[in-house]
Amino acid sequence: MASPLGQSPLLTRLVEGALEFLWPARCVGCDEPGTLLCPACAASLPAIDQRFACPHCGAPFGWLVCTNCTEPAPELGRVASAFAYEGVVERLVKVYKDEHERRLAPLLAEALRFAIENLAECEPSVLEAIDAIAFIPATEQAYLRRGFDHMELVARELSKRIGLPVADVLVHHRAGDQRELGGEEREENVRGTFEVMGEVWGSRLLLVDDVITTGASLREAARALVARGAFVPLGASVARVW
Ligand SMILES: [Zn+2]
Ligand SMILES: [Zn+2]
Repeated sequence: MASPLGQSPLLTRLVEGALEFLWPARCVGCDEPGTLLCPACAASLPAIDQRFACPHCGAPFGWLVCTNCTEPAPELGRVASAFAYEGVVERLVKVYKDEHERRLAPLLAEALRFAIENLAECEPSVLEAIDAIAFIPATEQAYLRRGFDHMELVARELSKRIGLPVADVLVHHRAGDQRELGGEEREENVRGTFEVMGEVWGSRLLLVDDVITTGASLREAARALVARGAFVPLGASVARVW
């Protein structure tokens, strides 16, 4: 359920993170100078309450299962998303990815930590026995365009915060354009687009991504990992399109 954050610890951490920087910055939400995210915009972020979110895809509505998840993938366990993908959150992700504002990586990592901690309040066992953080990497084309792997950077920031190592094990091949596709078509379109490099047999991974639209990419990446003997009991994203 999306709701304003108010003066939550997340807000404090996001704003402190944003104020750490010494060179000129502007709020992604309102253009206020001096910060990447001002307190007012941070307070307006539509946080998803994990108690009321879909356990399979992190959608804000669907405590048992949302309308997208009639057949959840057995390869992927619980999924939590921090925010609904709208307004300032949309800007946050776009400025980070498309305007290459790498200083937002710590904020996005804070969002992931927020989602995971919020979920752990409802289900204390979710973080138990997780060995490492895997991430949905950029395709080669996106990497060349941006000059950095946006989720690798976020995963490394998250690693510092939750004390788990990063498992850089996925390779992401380009799928056809997803934008016009519905759920089933997306599932088909991403089939086989992830490859696992390195040893993952027996590891229990937290899999993170920036935005979940239908969850097709996250599920496909989980499938590739599980096919190589890993477990993916937990997924998390910064935002869920709904
Ligand atoms: Zn602002
Ligand atoms: Zn769902």
